[in-house]
Amino acid sequence: MNPSPVCQECGTRVNTAPTMIEYLGEEIYLFDPVVCEPCLHKLCKRYSTYCANCGGCIPPYSQVGVLKGDAGQKQVVHTTTSCTTAGSAFYGYWGKGQLRNFIQIEACN
Ligand SMILES: [Zn+2]
Ligand SMILES: [Zn+2]
Repeated sequence: MNPSPVCQECGTRVNTAPTMIEYLGEEIYLFDPVVCEPCLHKLCKRYSTYCANCGGCIPPYSQVGVLKGDAGQKQVVHTTTSCTTAGSAFYGYWGKGQLRNFIQIEACN
């Protein structure tokens, strides 16, 4: 028997997987890590960033496109079809206020 997963933030048992909330119009489905709904709301408030393309909210634990801005600064954008950006060669994963699993997509010749 598998015990139900435990929230990584507060230790509460989480019975619903994935955790699903809506934050500022963005739907968030979180499979990994396991975080309960109240904690996910808190994480969104603390660690959300803004899309460099449309200005919308990008909650933590989302897949993002990455643009190289001025002075080597990285800007993140949505990967949704409603917010498509030309020339985004990098994809990453927005974690707790920073990029995780930053991947460069190889250009095909
Ligand atoms: Zn929690
Ligand atoms: Zn956007």
